[in-house]
Amino acid sequence: MATFVSRAEWGARNPTSQSTNITPENGGVTVHYVDGVPVARDDHAECAGQVRGIQNHHMDGNGWADIAYTYLTCVHGYVFEGRGPGHRTAANGTTTGNQNWYAVCGLVGGAEGSYDPVTPELVDAFHWSIATLRSTGGAATGINRHMDHLSTSCPGQLSAYVLDGSLEPDGDEGPPPWPGVYFSYPPVFTHASVSTWQARMVALGYSLSVDGQYGPASQAVCEEFQADAGLTVDGIVGPDTWNAAFA
Ligand SMILES: [Zn+2]
Ligand SMILES: [Zn+2]
Repeated sequence: MATFVSRAEWGARNPTSQSTNITPENGGVTVHYVDGVPVARDDHAECAGQVRGIQNHHMDGNGWADIAYTYLTCVHGYVFEGRGPGHRTAANGTTTGNQNWYAVCGLVGGAEGSYDPVTPELVDAFHWSIATLRSTGGAATGINRHMDHLSTSCPGQLSAYVLDGSLEPDGDEGPPPWPGVYFSYPPVFTHASVSTWQARMVALGYSLSVDGQYGPASQAVCEEFQADAGLTVDGIVGPDTWNAAFA
């Protein structure tokens, strides 16, 4: 099962701006790789620094608002939080691509004959990323490749894995991770992952509308759930409350 690494955990810079101008229900997930030279790290301890380097390149080199991708996955089975669900990406190369499709980048590179190997852990991290994006109501229509939007070698060796269906979630993904943000009220808190949590509460038998808005009704259900689960009752969905909900 993949392990989630929040932006705080990998030391992300804050975005200079964010756009929620997307219609992910009309698209899916576009798969990327890094570039034409091998980039996969032997030691996972180096992966967070690699992600920071990509963010610096995208923000300082390209002048973008943030790292371009929704998530990044490494060969050790970790999912690094990029822009996250609910936010427009800058990775897919076309207006329609960025409007409708999320972007997940595997931290592999190379060229024909020198490709970084695709590990089962990397494939699992893709499964997890795609299943999580679908759980937020996006990414419904499929999985494609950067080269399906425009002419590029991306996603390299991952292209074959898209085409043969290997990146399609297989049901072994485990629960969605705590999204790295605390849901609290007041004021009403809006985040793409709120609807994931609300839908889970409804599945567990609590009465709540799934509207993506963490307001007084969500807070009341949270407190009820926390009491039922023997957690500290504070009405805030943090990692303990999130994980208990999906346990
Ligand atoms: Zn790409
Ligand atoms: Zn790693």
